[in-house]
Amino acid sequence: MPSIPSDPSPTAGRPAPGGSTALLGVLGDPVRHSLSPAMHNAALAGLGLDWVYLALPVTAANLAAVVPALEALNCRGLSVTIPHKQAVAALVAELSPLAQRLGAVNTLVPRPEGGWLGTNTDVEGFVAPLQGGDWQGQRAVMLGCGGSALAVLAGLEQLGFGSIAVAGRTAAALTTFQANCRGWLPNLQPLAWDNPDGEGLQQALSHADLVVNCTPVGMTSNSDPTAVNGSPLSAAALDRLRPGCGVYDLIYTPRPTALLREAAARGCRTWDGLEMLVQQGAAALRLWSGRDTVPVAAMRQAALERLQGS
Ligand code: NAP
Repeated sequence: MPSIPSDPSPTAGRPAPGGSTALLGVLGDPVRHSLSPAMHNAALAGLGLDWVYLALPVTAANLAAVVPALEALNCRGLSVTIPHKQAVAALVAELSPLAQRLGAVNTLVPRPEGGWLGTNTDVEGFVAPLQGGDWQGQRAVMLGCGGSALAVLAGLEQLGFGSIAVAGRTAAALTTFQANCRGWLPNLQPLAWDNPDGEGLQQALSHADLVVNCTPVGMTSNSDPTAVNGSPLSAAALDRLRPGCGVYDLIYTPRPTALLREAAARGCRTWDGLEMLVQQGAAALRLWSGRDTVPVAAMRQAALERLQGS
């Protein structure tokens, strides 16, 4: 398990906050192990902005009080993470079309006329490492149909995938997921995942050009109770993957995950979720700062250093 220091320094490499320092932060529960403060404070130093980004632990019961209070404090922007991505949508003055479509908000931007704009940069983060590939008409298989899966689905659609199948272990959750995206992706193929070797899933894997793990299986975490060791795909299921098939794991602890290690051993191309995290943060910072360019390399480096515990 990576050792993550518990005392991130939001002011590393720049002057301590003063009377005019503005606040940004991430709302979640828990947020103690979030990489976002390290990433964003590194970027803010690079941009020369007198802003500081903090992890702000907020319970579900306090969310409705905290969101307007932070606006009153002239907060310049907020990230939103588990478990608030859905609930915060009811607390904003405006939702971007993408946030409306996904029913999930991961970024709040203060509006000049007052109130928060709720939007979602997870799709931009997810597609970033895949940009430049020719995915037009290709076949994707998603594992899991929870909160992150809708953003992944929107990203796969944006990249031009011709067929997308999603495997879910809980029938009701799979049905709800399909209903949530029926309006914009009517051809989604649901796959029952009663066991990891279900034949429908195995067949889909043998034709796949890209497999995306949207489950917490394979994550090591001392803060997420859903984390499960191992690979979401059995050895038999992994053997179905064609060499050259892409395998993308949203997880980034450990690096590599068991899924990516096993997939690479079978000749697959692999991506983990760190770049998605960095790129969704960079997209949010562009919105908050109004800058077209933000120091993505510094954000990536800061996230890596935090992961490595240095
Ligand atoms: P979530 O809303 O809890 O959804 C998890 C999904 O995985 C559900 O469909 C769940 O099925 C399924 N699942 C859980 N355990 C399983 C198991 N043992 N076997 C098969 N399926 C299982 O979680 P999420 O927000 O989508 O996040 C999923 C993962 O992505 C997490 O590890 C998270 O850290 C990571 N993530 C990374 C980024 C990034 O920026 N890199 C962004 C978002 C999320 P049930 O409905 O049956 O429980």
